[in-house]
Amino acid sequence: MPDTRETMSGAVSERALVDQLRSSLQGEVIDRGHPGYDAARAVWNGLIDRRPAVIAKCAGTADVVEAVRAAREHRPVVSVRGGGHQVAGSAVCDDGLVIDLSPMKGVHVDPAARTARAQAGTTWGEFDRETQLYGLAAPGGEISATGIAGLTLGGGFGFLMRTFGLSCDNVRSLTVVTADGTVRTAGPEEEPELYWAARGGGRGIGVVTSFEFGLHPLGPEVTAVLALHPYERAEELLRAWRDAAAVAPETITPELLLWSVPPDPAIPPDMHRANCVMVGAVYGGPPGAGAAEALAPQRELGPPLMDLSGTVPYVALQSANTWRFPDGERYFMKSHFMDELGDEAIGTLLNCYSRRPTPESLIVVRTLGGAVARVGPDETAFAHRSARFNVSIDAGWQDPATDGTAIGWARSSWDAMKPFSSGGTYVNFAGLGEDAGELRGAVFGSHEERLARTRAAYDPEGLFRSAARRP
Ligand SMILES: Cc1cc2nc3c(=O)[nH]c(=O)nc-3n(C[C@H](O)[C@H](O)[C@H](O)COP(=O)(O)OP(=O)(O)OC[C@H]3O[C@@H](n4cnc5c(N)ncnc54)[C@H](O)[C@@H]3O)c2cc1C
Repeated sequence: MPDTRETMSGAVSERALVDQLRSSLQGEVIDRGHPGYDAARAVWNGLIDRRPAVIAKCAGTADVVEAVRAAREHRPVVSVRGGGHQVAGSAVCDDGLVIDLSPMKGVHVDPAARTARAQAGTTWGEFDRETQLYGLAAPGGEISATGIAGLTLGGGFGFLMRTFGLSCDNVRSLTVVTADGTVRTAGPEEEPELYWAARGGGRGIGVVTSFEFGLHPLGPEVTAVLALHPYERAEELLRAWRDAAAVAPETITPELLLWSVPPDPAIPPDMHRANCVMVGAVYGGPPGAGAAEALAPQRELGPPLMDLSGTVPYVALQSANTWRFPDGERYFMKSHFMDELGDEAIGTLLNCYSRRPTPESLIVVRTLGGAVARVGPDETAFAHRSARFNVSIDAGWQDPATDGTAIGWARSSWDAMKPFSSGGTYVNFAGLGEDAGELRGAVFGSHEERLARTRAAYDPEGLFRSAARRP
């Protein structure tokens, strides 16, 4: 079926769309002539330069309903913006309507019920700040500036996932405005298919306006390992780390990064920007003897260049690396799920890293299992419950002249690692729009058909089709 929403039918309908939005929304409506247009269309990845017809900054769910109604009438391409951090820039579209939830940042914590209801424009930093007032947490992402919405709708990896599950596993219910403009609550009892799809396959099902998360007692302080090791020992360390990760308790979620020593004042300047191996893990419980014991194997992988391990405020830990991913620089990320991290895969990974284009570029190996694997394979749309690792190849750079080299490095490294992949990739680290085709079966695997049926049931005319298609 041809996609009739790919272009707007010219300046007249664009004007009519803007006028309708201006007359019906409480939030700001930003068109091409608005002085805030360039700021409003910018996303985290500076590589993305899209020019939407109009950006509807929604003040609340009623504004989202009006924006969806206007989209039904005028049939623009639609994109939905949460925190604007998807690397493919899928939050913005060319010549269409951006339903922008970034003004919607309300977080209400119910400490007795151990739940938090958060609007979809909230970032993880903003969410953690509120829940930590009560010593509670939901497992979120590792960088505080990312949005809770896109991250959770795609699954949600973080430092606590082996202990408490993916972010999406902690969603008790969601409020969704579907393509017919209806406000629905999706949970285990109500709209169960929508609830199923939203947890891992949430792009293109409608506009989620808020999430209800279950919370866990954690913080205000947590104990974490962060050890910087000399790159010369990378191969030996990766093997030892893999073996330690295989027997790690579920209370920790080990990860390993091949990266540059950060230019941190706490680290001697002559070490800054040198290649290193970073080993990290957080204990998902109170500081003390249990934490030290669970983390010890991660801390004892050999004499580090620098051991920054200790007990720190959870909020500080969650935002500790945010400054290393500044807004507006250029990025590309792509990943594989893996069942094994064999010696050959380790050799290939190091070979890829040795060709990295810039000091900002990195490779991250995350450990799954634990609570992630305990959720049944068909309980949510997230399709990679049994994978043991995720390897993400993340290029970062500033100079547009480096675009080809940096993206080429990430793509060729991803190709080199393909023989070791379990055949899946993570929608939240899935390259740019043009990578979408090859990722189709890889992102949702055997859930692809059920997801397509669910999307068609709630959006028979394909209002959100382009949002569903982009990574
Ligand atoms: C620096 C950095 C660090 C990251 N770290 C992690 C990490 O630790 N763990 C992890 O799992 N991922 C991580 N990611 C990936 C992250 O999960 C995705 O980029 C995610 O899409 C970010 O969510 P967002 O709301 O900011 O995205 P946006 O770009 O706003 O949205 C991404 C897509 O999600 C959909 N969407 C967003 N909001 C809604 C909504 N309310 N309703 C319906 N659809 C919506 C839209 O289709 C949109 O195109 C990281 C990304 C970056 C840039």
